Amino acid sequence: MPTDTLAPSDLKRGREVELTLTDFADRGKSLARVGEGDGGFVVFVAGAVPGDRVRARVFKRKKGFAEARLLEVLEPSELRTEPRCEYAASCGGCKWQHVEYPAQLAMKGEQAVSALTRARLDLSAADVRPPLGGGAYDGSGGVYFYRNKMEFSFSAMRWLTDWEIATGEEMDTDFALGLHVPGRFDKVLDLKACYLQSEWSARLVNGVRAFAKAQGWSPWHPREHTGYLRILALRTPGHTDDRMVNLVTSFYDEPRMAAFADFLRAEFPEVTTLVNTINSGVAQTAFGEAVHTVFGSGLVRDKIGPHTFEIASNAFFQTNTVAAEGLYAVAREFANLQPDDVVYDLYCGAGTISLFVADQVKRVVGVELVEEAVENARASAEANGVANCTFVAGDMLELLKPELVEEHGRPDVLIVDPPRAGMHPKVVGQIAHLRPERIVYVSCNPQTQARDLAMLQEAAAYTIEAVQPVDMFPHTHHVESVVGLRLT
Ligand code: SAH
Repeated sequence: MPTDTLAPSDLKRGREVELTLTDFADRGKSLARVGEGDGGFVVFVAGAVPGDRVRARVFKRKKGFAEARLLEVLEPSELRTEPRCEYAASCGGCKWQHVEYPAQLAMKGEQAVSALTRARLDLSAADVRPPLGGGAYDGSGGVYFYRNKMEFSFSAMRWLTDWEIATGEEMDTDFALGLHVPGRFDKVLDLKACYLQSEWSARLVNGVRAFAKAQGWSPWHPREHTGYLRILALRTPGHTDDRMVNLVTSFYDEPRMAAFADFLRAEFPEVTTLVNTINSGVAQTAFGEAVHTVFGSGLVRDKIGPHTFEIASNAFFQTNTVAAEGLYAVAREFANLQPDDVVYDLYCGAGTISLFVADQVKRVVGVELVEEAVENARASAEANGVANCTFVAGDMLELLKPELVEEHGRPDVLIVDPPRAGMHPKVVGQIAHLRPERIVYVSCNPQTQARDLAMLQEAAAYTIEAVQPVDMFPHTHHVESVVGLRLT
């Protein structure tokens, strides 16, 4: 039955229905509205696009919404485009590659702004800017090859795409090197191509796969927790030619690593450093209990603004260098910096924002939980001759207290860039208590940003002056948002 003749009661589990999608939803889904009443009954369909008419099967039915699996696109939306990557429909890396980029960007802008308005924040005095993205930062307009870091997983459980199965060819399903299927820790696509990092990176992935298979090295088995090869992590900085290969293995094997180094030197001489991280734990991450530098310095260098950063295999660094500069430029502008300002850069990571604003103000104090990131920040400040930045390591909840202000002075400006979960309510309370004149909230999650700002405004009178959504990761569902506030 088509949407216009469907009633919410028709949306039973297992039922096949025809739906016309009307809105983008979160995480690669779009939604249709069934029936009358307040916006209708919402059905989410992953992979569908507003304007599509689709055939789909209901697989989840809750009180407030349903979810259906896309079976067939009957009439495609005008917003659709042919994805560049043949894995796009199955891969967890890109969720929106099948949507024209301008429509992706507009959707992300709307998501960032509507999160704020839904939290009843007053934007009447705000300069709400159109979303910035897709190479707008450097004028390139590029929406591919923007990542400076990728982590490809090895797995003994290969996931086959529909078209791989349709070829009817015999496939080796015991070895995969690629990215995960969304929501599946155990299923990895064997990627022969990926357009997020570089052509070179894809070539390297294919070369390493062929080499490892020829050597008979076993991939990690995500259920049995056995196997040697775990992750191939590549760093290709935006502004230098440094290239790092970090092979994460479950144990150290010197002869194998020597053979791997010989292979890279011969086939991929562009690699400037090889490290071998040992992770014998159950969690499939590139962090481990030991890091061996096999050749080169064990670091890559990248630049943001005039500063050079040395980045270790396990260090945090913005993954889209050029877009990070664009994001930081917005944050700096919204902060309206003055030469006498004391700036607090909270959740400062490796201090990249601190250094970016340092030459315009009197002093910057960066606060960050991860000790290593703080060490990186200090080293970068010193290496770049920046003398007016101080970095403090610890939990914001413990540190953002009168003692910090006594030691470092009252902040005129607060720049906060918390993780996806946003700020602890007590931290928001502490900020309200501090009452800095200007606040810039940089966020990778507009929902928690809106929640935190609503909480802040209950405790202290701030006017939202400007909002800038930023798309740093085209084709993914991620969106960043910068909000500038001033004490009223
Ligand atoms: N501003 C940085 C990093 C932002 S990511 C940049 O632009 O690169 C968010 C940072 O918050 C991470 O580095 C994370 O380690 C840090 N963080 C998370 N929880 C924290 C806490 N409770 N206290 C202090 N820092 C925290």
